[in-house]
Amino acid sequence: MRKFKTESQKLLDLMINSIYTNREIFLRELVSNGSDAVDKLYLKSLTDSDAVVAKEALGISITPNKDARTITISDTGIGMTKDELDKNLSTIAHSGSQEFKEANAKEQGKDIDIIGQFGVGFYSAFMVAKNVKVISRAFGSDEAWMWESSGAEGYEIKPATKDTWGTDVILTLKDDTADDKYSEFLEDWRIKGLVKKYSNYVRYPIRLIESKEEDEPGKPKTEVINSMVPIWKRKKSEVSDEDYAEFFKSNFHETEGPLRTISVHAEGALSYDALLFIPAKTAWNYYDREFKKGLALYSSGVMIMEKCEELLPDCFGFVKGVVDSQDLSLNISRETLQHNNQLKVIARRLEKKIKSELVALRDDDRTAYEAFFEQFGRAFKFGIYSSFGEKKELLEDLLMFYSARKQKLITLAEYIEDAPQDQKSIYYAAGNDLDRVSKLPMVTTVLAKGYDVLLCTMDVDEFCLMGLREYYGKQFRNVSSGNLDVETEDEIDAAEALDTENAELFTALKDALDGKIDKVRSSTRITDAPACLVSDGPLSLEMERILANEPGADPNMFKAVHILELSPSHPVFAALQAAQEAGDGDKIARYAKLLYNQARLIEGLPIEDPIAFARDIAALMQ
Ligand code: ADP
Repeated sequence: MRKFKTESQKLLDLMINSIYTNREIFLRELVSNGSDAVDKLYLKSLTDSDAVVAKEALGISITPNKDARTITISDTGIGMTKDELDKNLSTIAHSGSQEFKEANAKEQGKDIDIIGQFGVGFYSAFMVAKNVKVISRAFGSDEAWMWESSGAEGYEIKPATKDTWGTDVILTLKDDTADDKYSEFLEDWRIKGLVKKYSNYVRYPIRLIESKEEDEPGKPKTEVINSMVPIWKRKKSEVSDEDYAEFFKSNFHETEGPLRTISVHAEGALSYDALLFIPAKTAWNYYDREFKKGLALYSSGVMIMEKCEELLPDCFGFVKGVVDSQDLSLNISRETLQHNNQLKVIARRLEKKIKSELVALRDDDRTAYEAFFEQFGRAFKFGIYSSFGEKKELLEDLLMFYSARKQKLITLAEYIEDAPQDQKSIYYAAGNDLDRVSKLPMVTTVLAKGYDVLLCTMDVDEFCLMGLREYYGKQFRNVSSGNLDVETEDEIDAAEALDTENAELFTALKDALDGKIDKVRSSTRITDAPACLVSDGPLSLEMERILANEPGADPNMFKAVHILELSPSHPVFAALQAAQEAGDGDKIARYAKLLYNQARLIEGLPIEDPIAFARDIAALMQ
């Protein structure tokens, strides 16, 4: 009995005692090894005239045997000599295992979950097998050798017989337990499913030598179970929409075909193929925290990751698809991913592709784009806000807002196109109800000046505009905050004069409101309504409301400056002035509350004491 090298021993221990649920990946690992071995032989046959092999002779087969409880993975690859068997299968050979070992040292005692993230290679066989035999005959040699191990104690190498070159890996499966049904791996459907899932696009045929039916007595039925030519390697013009739809549905659990399909074939310093889909509908859990974005990542036809997050920015997290590159190592781990420049380059290019596809959709089929935006627009808006504006350039032209003037969704570019030459700002109003926001008195005022107003009813809207800051030199301006910048010099002077003249009245009103209001002033933004609530500074009243509703929010943390503005041309203003002159403090106090509550109602904000409000109104009516 020979002993494993210390490092291999540790890895092996882990595999044998693995509680890892994703142990099905053993098949992917062994098939990949077989495919690599075939690759090596194929390459040799192309470059060495003494080693001519017919392409048809190259392949991999999987043979389950229920009676013997074995599953055999065979390849007609390059094979291994006795020395190679000893060297390759008894030490940690490749970098993936090395990384795995390092990560495992860090994670020691925590969870074995890291296994699935690494190309753990040959030893993964021990996650499902109690005994592993490898019978191999190197190409060009006529002797065969068998490597055998039942686990950590060690392994043996003995002479063996084998008709052709290549390698057979024979796994005797572990006994079933109540929780773990290893015998499942002997079922044809299970094997087919695993090959479809992980190895469908291996370039050589993978044949299943079926356990049940036999075509002719003595000759088992064989079936090629991988598709070999991946759909993403084919040109878009060669694939039908139905084929794409089928692939999309079967691979991504979708019920409908995609809205758009993007096919990319890049060659050069970094070669890759990508097939991306823009779904028509959001996944049911798309806006959940649990939703996991990502594209399937393949390296030379072998799936190495089901969802590689790094390939998609959050704002395009709804995109589904596949990236395949021969320039990526099979052993990409979570840690190395973040530093992988090739992946970053691919991700950047795909981001641009997705954007231009969406721009095309916007311009070619507005109705479809609007329907799409209803579903996913929130992700763009959130993307701008959460990236602190970093994704502004990528996303700003994809945004749509509801136009108060046109009563439909428009883009920011369309807003600017239709704006009068002298318009300095892009106006918007925020609130949670479209109908109510559209009727806000300040919206009416701005519209009357000839300027459109964007009606922001999504909670993320105003935060998105804050992230954008400006669009083509025009600042975003909330019609309920600061000044409107539509006033003439004279109007501003007049308002200031009014504030000075009525300073005592305004102070009395403010005092009556008991700290609810920071300031009372005359308004230039409303005429028909007697009063409105506005704010000054970066935080609007609507933002304050949204932030206060965030789970766990401290309501005192985000405070807007609350201002009660009074319309000087409204008869109520004159009534207030008269009460002030008559020294009727009670009336002023009552009116202050009424005006304040009215203004809150107009804004869609709740009032603190509706009973007192109703009583005060009733008193006025008597
Ligand atoms: P990796 O395949 O990532 O290098 P493994 O532990 O899976 O790591 O395998 C170790 C080595 O054993 C391989 O690099 C290869 O040289 C050899 N090997 C494994 N399986 C086969 C096979 N089916 N045919 C030929 N060589 C093999």
